[in-house]
Amino acid sequence: MKKHNFSAGPCILPQEVLKKAAEAVVNFNGIDLSLIEISHRSKEFIEVMENARSLVKELLNLPEGYSVLFLQGGASLEFLMTAYNLMKIDGKAGYMDTGAWSAKAIKEAKQFGDVNVFASSKDAVYNHIPKGYVVPTGLDYVHITSNNTIYGTQFKEFPETDGLLVCDMSSDIFSRQLDFSKFDLIYAGAQKNMGPAGTTLVIVKDEILGKTGRTIPAMLDYQVHISKDSMFNTPPVFPVYVSMLTLQWLKDLGGIPAIEKLNEEKAALLYAEIDRNPLFNGFAAKEDRSLMNVTFTLANADHQAVFDKLWNAAGVNGIKGHRSVGGYRASIYNAMPKESIQVLVDVMQQLEKEI
Ligand SMILES: *Cc1c(COP(=O)(O)O)cnc(C)c1O
Repeated sequence: MKKHNFSAGPCILPQEVLKKAAEAVVNFNGIDLSLIEISHRSKEFIEVMENARSLVKELLNLPEGYSVLFLQGGASLEFLMTAYNLMKIDGKAGYMDTGAWSAKAIKEAKQFGDVNVFASSKDAVYNHIPKGYVVPTGLDYVHITSNNTIYGTQFKEFPETDGLLVCDMSSDIFSRQLDFSKFDLIYAGAQKNMGPAGTTLVIVKDEILGKTGRTIPAMLDYQVHISKDSMFNTPPVFPVYVSMLTLQWLKDLGGIPAIEKLNEEKAALLYAEIDRNPLFNGFAAKEDRSLMNVTFTLANADHQAVFDKLWNAAGVNGIKGHRSVGGYRASIYNAMPKESIQVLVDVMQQLEKEI
């Protein structure tokens, strides 16, 4: 049965990427060896790594002066690596608390210095992006989470700061056009919009590093990874390869301008049904709605059993909301076809007819 994968992460990847990845595991590029059994120092794999890094720069239109790394440890390790590499001894960083992932980043940063949480939407179960806040001056950096995967909110405008701007873009990188050069450091776990779990993309402006006065363990030091071309130790070869395939797929599709247009159409289709259908309520504040994670609840909880039966029967998969929000979450990342969203919309309309 055809499945429609709305999973929040790990998540849907393009079918053609999965097929090529499967082939490469058995016989990579016709060399009669598997991608995952050749040396990461072989010319074949170095080419994969270099291609992946340059596709990132090209797709994001990054100016000179940025390095691209494929690391391990997930976005969760970046919560502390960013602080370790950027917060000065006796320094101070500012954080916006817009969800559970931000809160985890804040917790890690507190181990390194003074953390000023200058805006939070926690009291409203993170159903919106805070507005009207004042960004303190004199911070080493400001940290934000551009898309809040669990709550379905997304920054449309970014804070201005006289410090550095650091962004966890795990769940919306490569999904919309932004001036990526506004950011000094971007990180993203691959498994939301780029590849399998197991690698984390880090994009960092070289000139911001080496200024904290801290001694950083080698594996946690961005400068070490940069100096070794992202191969300080054995890189996660398979996730890097699959990420490269997805980035190539995106480039062939027309890059971020093309995918942004599709993402806007896809999200509009689903939000329009949530707003039209009296049986559903959107969770996130309208002006902050995410193009990637669409959160909604049933107006009447008694309809849950019928609705769950309907979407299961239609092959819809992975729309149960995160336990902290309840309800439903449809994650509609880059690889999600519009037809699958139409299937979900049809199910929502079917519920109206059945009850
Ligand atoms: C999933 C997610 C994370 C955690 O990523 P891991 O790779 O599992 O550590 C962090 N931030 C955001 C925004 C996420 O969506």
